[in-house]
Amino acid sequence: MNIAFIAHDKKKDDLVRFTMAYENVLKDHQLFSTGTTGQRIMKETSLDIHLFKSGPLGGDQQIGALVAENSMDLVLFFKDPLTAQPHEPDITALIRLCDVYSIPLATNMATAEILLSGLKRGEFQWREIIKRQEGNQNES
Ligand code: PGA
Repeated sequence: MNIAFIAHDKKKDDLVRFTMAYENVLKDHQLFSTGTTGQRIMKETSLDIHLFKSGPLGGDQQIGALVAENSMDLVLFFKDPLTAQPHEPDITALIRLCDVYSIPLATNMATAEILLSGLKRGEFQWREIIKRQEGNQNES
């Protein structure tokens, strides 16, 4: 599965700890992240992550573009609801696109835990079916 990580500054420690706890599950997937978040995770784990630009410089929009192409299967976005963000419109746009394409999105650790449990149990296989169907439609 293609999995994207984003964490606002005050939530980065939480996301790093989360990825350390789930490293064994995450290592079998293709991982993507906004710049600073991904660098932090790679420093603390052995996970290999494709880094996009930093969030305020367009990283959320780059992840949104993959969502719009239906190539992202899960977005783990540890949002800070108590701090104003300069790139709030980008954040809203990413969340909107996840809803447009029905992409599983966690905006806090509690939801992320439940989605990762589902991932471990193989409950994301429907994503492969959708992507295969979409591939067939593009061919015909
Ligand atoms: P960052 O971006 O990982 O580059 O800090 C996250 C964000 O959208 O604030």
